[in-house]
Amino acid sequence: MKADLTKIKIIAWDLDGTLFQSQKDLSIAMAGAFVKILSESKNLNEDDARKLLSESVAIHKGVTKSLEALGCGDRISIIKRVESIVDKASYLKVDQKLQKMFTDLSNYKHAIASDTSHTIINKELEALGLSSSIFESITGVDDAKTTKPDRMFYQVMLNKGNYNPSDYLVVGDRVAIDLIPAKELGMMTCLVWSNEVDPERSRRADFVLPTVYNVADLFKE
Ligand SMILES: [Mg+2]
Repeated sequence: MKADLTKIKIIAWDLDGTLFQSQKDLSIAMAGAFVKILSESKNLNEDDARKLLSESVAIHKGVTKSLEALGCGDRISIIKRVESIVDKASYLKVDQKLQKMFTDLSNYKHAIASDTSHTIINKELEALGLSSSIFESITGVDDAKTTKPDRMFYQVMLNKGNYNPSDYLVVGDRVAIDLIPAKELGMMTCLVWSNEVDPERSRRADFVLPTVYNVADLFKE
């Protein structure tokens, strides 16, 4: 049975990997930045840093979490360091399909919930051709002072608006990071860029969609 969307007033979007998919050149630049941070912090050559990082990612899952566990600083400082190395917005371009989707969803309020700093969020939105005025609130690492999947991140977002958790649909590309904490706080969830059929994983998301552009279709009668 399909979850009921009639109560949804506001859609909270993850940004990286959700409003855009990382193309190969951006992924390579990001991977290079992570290795650079580790090699500088631990005084390792690049090959050793790459090997150590991949071993750590196998244990800790997220790259930022792995770097934190390896003693490269806290997650927020690592995120800011990566942002200073890689100009993510320069890899993005105006996405007319995305612009049309937000036009189709203009009867709803929108929010951004991204593990990125506000400066970069604004640059990325601009590069995608989205006005930041579409979003009633933007929550980033600067004001959340934490990252997803810490529920506190979404709590900071919730504190910004006069909505109940059940008024929100949270859209993201990672179940464990974006959706589980949102669900635990009583928000509805939608996984995008996924053909996930694993019932254990999809059980965590109320909706699973092949692309982000399909979100507007959810709200069509
Ligand atoms: Mg993401």
